[in-house]
Order: sequence, then C-alpha cells, then structure tokens
Amino acid sequence: YARMAGLVRESIKVPTAGPNIVKAHTRKKYDYLVVGAGFAGSVLAERLASQHDARVLVIDKRPHIAGNAYDHLDQAGVLIHQYGPHIFHTNSDEIVDYLSKFTAWRPYEHKVLAEVRGKLVPIPINRTTLNALFDLDLKTDEDAAAYLASRAEPVAEIKTSEDVVISAVGRELYELFFQGYTRKQWGIDPSGLDKAVTARIPTRTNTDDRYFGDKHQIMPKHGYTAMFNRMLEHPNIDVLLSTDYKDVMSEIDAGHIVFTGPIDEFFDFRYGKLPYRSLRFEHKILDKENFQPVAVVNYPSPQVPYTRITEYKHLTGQENDKTSITYEYPSAEGDPYYPIPRAENQELFKKYEALADATSNVTFVGRLATYRYYNMDQVVGQALSAFRKIDARKKAATAA
Ligand code: FAD
Ligand code: UDP
Repeated sequence: YARMAGLVRESIKVPTAGPNIVKAHTRKKYDYLVVGAGFAGSVLAERLASQHDARVLVIDKRPHIAGNAYDHLDQAGVLIHQYGPHIFHTNSDEIVDYLSKFTAWRPYEHKVLAEVRGKLVPIPINRTTLNALFDLDLKTDEDAAAYLASRAEPVAEIKTSEDVVISAVGRELYELFFQGYTRKQWGIDPSGLDKAVTARIPTRTNTDDRYFGDKHQIMPKHGYTAMFNRMLEHPNIDVLLSTDYKDVMSEIDAGHIVFTGPIDEFFDFRYGKLPYRSLRFEHKILDKENFQPVAVVNYPSPQVPYTRITEYKHLTGQENDKTSITYEYPSAEGDPYYPIPRAENQELFKKYEALADATSNVTFVGRLATYRYYNMDQVVGQALSAFRKIDARKKAATAA
C-alpha cells in the first residue's frame, strides 16, 4: 500500500478483519435492531453486544459503515472523507478512553483560513486576522480587545446567530466572515438562525490560530472506517448494508429498536417534514503535491458557490505526489446532514420527541434522531449515556 500510495511519513493501514456482513434474507432472532451504522448506532451496538451479550443487527441504507464519518483511500491513495472533513476534538477523557479501545490516534490541530478581500486570514478571527485584514499593528491581547470593542455593536439580548457576531466584532467583520457563509451554508440569514450556530466559532484577541480549543485534538490513526470496523467486529453483531430498515422490518425479529435516522421519517412525517440541510461534495484528485496551506479554506463570499475546500493530506500527514481535495456546495436537496437550529424547527421536533417518548420499545439517538447539531464526540457521549440507561433498566429488572 505504501508503495502504491507513495506514502512515506504516515501509512494508513486498511483493516484486515471487520464486521460480520450479512444478507437481507438472514432470518435470525436478535435482541436489538440498530438502524444506522454511524457513531450513534455503532457505539450502542458495540456496548450492547460486549456488555450485555446481546445479539444485535445493525442496518444501514448506505453501502458502508461509519455514517457521515466514513473515510476511504481514493485512487491516489489519499484517505478522504466521503461526506466532508471530520475533525475529532473533545474535552472528555471518558470519550477518548472509550474510542481508544478501537483505534490508535494521531495528534492533529485543525487550522482554517478564510478567503476575505483576496487574502487568506485565520478564522476564528484573532489578532493575526485583524492585523492582516486592516493593516494594523495590534501587539497585545489588550490592543486587539480594545480594537474589537470599538467595532462591536451592543445587542440587548443575544438571540440569533447575527446577534452573537455583531455584538463581538461589529457589522463589517460579520458581513465579511459570517453573513455570506451562513446564508450559503444554511439557506437562511444568520438573523433567522439560533445563536448556537455561529457561537460555535469563538473570537480571539491572541494569535492562537487553531480552529478548536479542546483538550483532545486527535484523529484516528488509520481513519474512522478502520475504527468502526473494530467497533462492529464483535461476534454478536451482524451488519446489513445497502438496506432501508423499512423494507426488511417485517422479516426481522428483534425486541428493541435503536433508531439513529431522521426522527420525522420514523413517524412517517406525521406532523410534516423536519428541515435538514444537505451538501453536495465534489471530490478531486490533483496532479500536484500541494493545493492550499492548511486543511480547510473557507469562502464566505456570496460570489463563490461553495463554502469551503478541504485538502486531506493535512489531516493524515500522508506524503503523496498527488493531492485530494473536496468542495462543499450547500443544498436543500439530498441526504440530511444538518438539523437546522431555529425556534420553529425546534417546536416541530418537540412534537416528534413526544411521540418518541411514548414509543417504549425504541431508543432514539444521534444527530438526526434527536435533531441536534452535535459533533462526533457529543454523539458518542449521548450514545454512551443511552447505553447507561438501558443498563440501569436491565439491572433493575434483574433485581426485581
Ligand atoms: P450519521 O453518521 O448520519 O449516521 C446515521 C446513519 O443512519 C447513516 O449512515 C444513514 O445512512 C443511516 N440511516 C438513516 N435512515 C436510514 C434508514 N431508513 N434505513 C437504514 N439506515 C438509515 N463532527 C465533528 O465532531 N467534527 C467535525 O469536523 C465534523 N464535521 C462534519 C462535517 C460535515 C460535512 C458533516 C455533515 C458533519 C460533521 N460532523 C463533525 C458531525 C458528525 O458527522 C456527526 O456528529 C456524526 O457523524 C453523527 O453520527 P450519527 O450516528 O448520529 O449520524
Ligand atoms: N461560519 C461562518 N463563517 C466561517 C465559519 C463558520 O459564517 O468562516 C458559521 C456558519 O454559519 C457555520 C457555523 O458558523 O455553519 C458553524 O461553523 P462550523 O465550522 O462549526 O460548521 P460545520 O463544520 O459544522 O459545518
């Protein structure tokens, strides 16, 4: 592999073993049917199989495991992420300890630049950004804080994604970095989105140019799919791919369902469709060694149709005389990737959540089933906590 891919510094090992892939007509009795082989479904399947000795069938309608975190070697031998860049970061030791059962790690601190007024400058906005963009010479944190304070517009109550940014950096920087990007990404102006969306991006007065501030910033050494292979290779777990659970439900004998797909779909859109935002990914292999200085460059300009470009070799440390990149084009149509955080959607979700609460033989977990804009680590945390609840119920039933 190393030879084929021209890798020198880092080699990505393709796993030899993997989960037990079964065919649709396999008729077995299972304790659990898990819909979705992403983080939510795979963590629960692994916990239930290994801790409760449960027999688990995992179904995914895609032809692969790992959900949106799916990665694979492309034709150039570069490990690419099929559904856009997935950077692992968390403050939780527990979540790192848990995932470390299935993978080794590679330290990686994510850096992002934004193309603004023809320059590539750090985002999150920091002192370097201000100096580069406005030809300033801010020397200290205090200088930068005073400069930002002079531009910030006070907002009485911060409610929207516009309020968050305007109150921190003022309108000009808001328009340059956030308004265009957000309108493209979500199809909605920041003033119509919950404050939590742009609040994901801090503002800094120092020169820290890392995208995340978390305690752990690491990538699975051989990729996410290799990690999922190890999670799902337990002998009690069967995996059925390329199958919509609705098409085979009647053939499957399982006591309990773990559902990680879109919650509105589970209830046949009874109250109408919950909006999810989608993306179209354009993957390219370039016949040159490097494309851009960091893993991700954001394009907030409304004149550019995509939001960002990712170059994967920065994530893996692979060396290769070619390089692989992905453009992201936001879209209303396509696979659901993002729940859209705004009040009216949350209200509709609450109606579905009430149905979910009344459906005792189904556990709803993950980004789509709980309609939460969660990162990977948060989904792992949510799945581990769902397992703890199932575990407590089991122990209570055994004791009774
Ligand atoms: P998913 O991974 O979506 O898994 C759900 C699975 O259910 C899917 O595989 C789907 O095919 C399957 N399914 C749905 N309906 C059915 C059905 N009817 N029958 C059978 N199967 C079905 N997080 C980070 O921490 N860092 C990042 O850098 C990051 N970047 C991201 C970039 C993009 C472009 C996107 C879209 C997300 C990113 N995330 C990131 C978030 C991360 O992808 C999610 O937190 C995580 O993958 C959610 O896991 P999940 O199991 O809830 O959902
Ligand atoms: N955002 C922006 N400009 C940027 C980066 C982010 O406007 O250069 C806003 C945008 O609304 C985006 C949100 O902040 O959807 C969260 O950004 P993040 O990078 O966390 O998005 P994700 O990686 O989840 O797509």
